[in-house]
Amino acid sequence: MTDEGADTREEKSRQAGAEPETKRELHGDGDRARTDKSPRPANVSETATRAEISNYEIVTHYFEEAAERIGIPDDIAAVLKSSYREVQVQIPIRRRDGKIHVFSGYRVQHNGARGPYKGGVRFHPEVDLDEVRALASLMTWKTAIAGVPFGGAKGGVNCHAEDCDQEELEKIARSFMGKVEKLLGPQRDIPAPDVGTNAQTMAWMMDEYGKLHGHTPACVTGKPISLEGSYGREAATGRGLVYLYEEAAGELNLEPESTRVVVQGYGNVGSWAARILADMGCTLVAASDAHGAIRSDGGIDAHALAEHVAQKGRLPEFDGVEQISPDELLETPCEVFIPAALGGMIHKENAHGLACRVVIEGANSPTTPTADDILADNGIHVIPDVMANAGGVVVSYFEWVQNLQHFRWEEDEVNQRLRKIIQRAYGEVREKARERNIPLRPAAYELGIERVMEAATTRGYIHTGG
Ligand code: NAD
Repeated sequence: MTDEGADTREEKSRQAGAEPETKRELHGDGDRARTDKSPRPANVSETATRAEISNYEIVTHYFEEAAERIGIPDDIAAVLKSSYREVQVQIPIRRRDGKIHVFSGYRVQHNGARGPYKGGVRFHPEVDLDEVRALASLMTWKTAIAGVPFGGAKGGVNCHAEDCDQEELEKIARSFMGKVEKLLGPQRDIPAPDVGTNAQTMAWMMDEYGKLHGHTPACVTGKPISLEGSYGREAATGRGLVYLYEEAAGELNLEPESTRVVVQGYGNVGSWAARILADMGCTLVAASDAHGAIRSDGGIDAHALAEHVAQKGRLPEFDGVEQISPDELLETPCEVFIPAALGGMIHKENAHGLACRVVIEGANSPTTPTADDILADNGIHVIPDVMANAGGVVVSYFEWVQNLQHFRWEEDEVNQRLRKIIQRAYGEVREKARERNIPLRPAAYELGIERVMEAATTRGYIHTGG
């Protein structure tokens, strides 16, 4: 794709009413993220530069390009591009200020040709139908690329999880599940954690579902170990990134001892990837979260930083490091850059600054199409989200299988099986990329779309020709 093409698209999206392309601020509770419709004062203001286009436009762009290259007829592409079902529900919650706050909850089921719908639930103030739609579609291609028997879905509530106490989060989780449970179930649609949600959220959702349907552990994945969660699930997405680092290291002649790592978004995915890489001998030199960014060329103790954040310490206040700006984080020299925060954080304003050899995308849609071209021009190897962060859904698949059998696997077995699936998916995508002489991202999309097409036509959901 040319820069001209990207700019034209961005221009179109601006004309269509999207946010202006120039840097915009991420306000935890600002005007754009003013999602809770109840009256209250604005009280949060964090800065991070974000993309020229939305997550939906990013995913749609990559889908359309791949569909055109494969030669999928427009009418069939329209079926594959749009969602099967989109639901929005009202979530009124009495908060600790004594008032009822009204949030919006979403569940989008994008495509179920290959199996039950599968995808996380996000609690974040920027959640809206467009974002959930984009993330649901990404799940369809991701499960197909990984070869696990699921379709794609996503959910979310536009609440600010960090602002809520445990009681409020529990009310939101239960209310959401109570309103979408008819669409869910082990053979229909299985949620999991994402940004702002975790094993505890899944425990509340499972309990709520169980009140109506009886004890059904397979109705959600990413549960606590004490409630039939799987060993290895919490670390799985980060671990999957590490397995891909091992693959890329072989191709790029990287040795762990001389590999410097930068992590943007030190949450579940980012911190697990950093900890496992550190255990292999890599050095974490910079990290960030919604509160700020830090750097230490001598190395940051990845485990101690994860513990500091888990104890509700603010990441920028970690001892013995230099505080830097979010943009400086991107420019920190390293071998491996791991985006593990939100979508659109590597964009045309900042992509030139990346000083790494490989980007392994932990976050969903972290790179805009224009930024992707810039990274390619700069010789940076990009392992795209749609295959890179599949570790979570792969071990969610294992959790679902274990729950259906009421049988638990050891953590070693989970990790070995995960490694096999990630290596196989990487091998298949790399093979396609070589055959077609295209980068990994378009190759991954082609593979995913072809597999979904095949399932959809074989089961007769869509008919090609005649
Ligand atoms: P999380 O809530 O545990 O962590 C998100 C992190 O991003 C937090 O540390 C948060 O402070 C940080 N963050 C938010 N805004 C930021 C900003 N502007 N700048 C820097 N950091 C910022 O969520 P997670 O589960 O680790 O998910 C992270 C990403 O990985 C998301 O894009 C998610 O969709 C994707 N993902 C997660 C999983 C999973 O299994 N959890 C699987 C696949 C993909």
